[in-house]
Amino acid sequence: MPTSDAALIGPSPARPAGPRAHTAIGVLALQGDVAEHLQAVAGAGARAVPVRRPGELDAVDGLIIPGGESTTIWKLAAVFDLAGPLRGRIAAGMPVFGSCAGMIMLAARLVGGASGQETLGAIDMTVRRNAFGRQAESFESDLLVRGAGDAPFRAVFIRAPWVEDVGPGVEVLATEPRTGRIVAVRQGRALATAFHPELTRDTRVHAIFADMVREES
Ligand code: GLN
Repeated sequence: MPTSDAALIGPSPARPAGPRAHTAIGVLALQGDVAEHLQAVAGAGARAVPVRRPGELDAVDGLIIPGGESTTIWKLAAVFDLAGPLRGRIAAGMPVFGSCAGMIMLAARLVGGASGQETLGAIDMTVRRNAFGRQAESFESDLLVRGAGDAPFRAVFIRAPWVEDVGPGVEVLATEPRTGRIVAVRQGRALATAFHPELTRDTRVHAIFADMVREES
């Protein structure tokens, strides 16, 4: 078999052109619903990889920031030297999805944050932390999620935030029917939900994100 010289000369690109056979979706694995997201990504037909170090972040095509406790996730991201690389990859267009604490992490503006708590600013929105109340006020609600078909999505809210306002570039994907509050948004390559799709068997939100990642990789 003749070998093309073109394949042997010149620098190899950091990322191969065209769709990658094994698109990898990372799950930020510092605290929170990591295992549940890894399982949901696999359920949506994509490859899931835990991310704890900057080198692991470099190797993924998209990233999920899980539900959990945003103050802890932020502190650990700083300790693990991930805050700068996360901001860098997001600014460079890496698709990201944050659920609950992850939504808080992606906000441009945060109300009710702990002192010193920063966010990544991926979505032009103001998020109010613990807006739906503390643990005792956790609840489930049936939502219509734009892009997820006509069947309602059973959404689990746990000490959930809501979105108080969004900038003009942000698409509202779902509101919570009882309160009318915005609970799912997308801006370009960033997706966020105030609820936890990783805690149900319904993988439609993960499938939306997997499609966003495949479009970019
Ligand atoms: N209230 C939590 C926070 O501030 C988020 C809750 C959750 O992710 N279930 O991070």
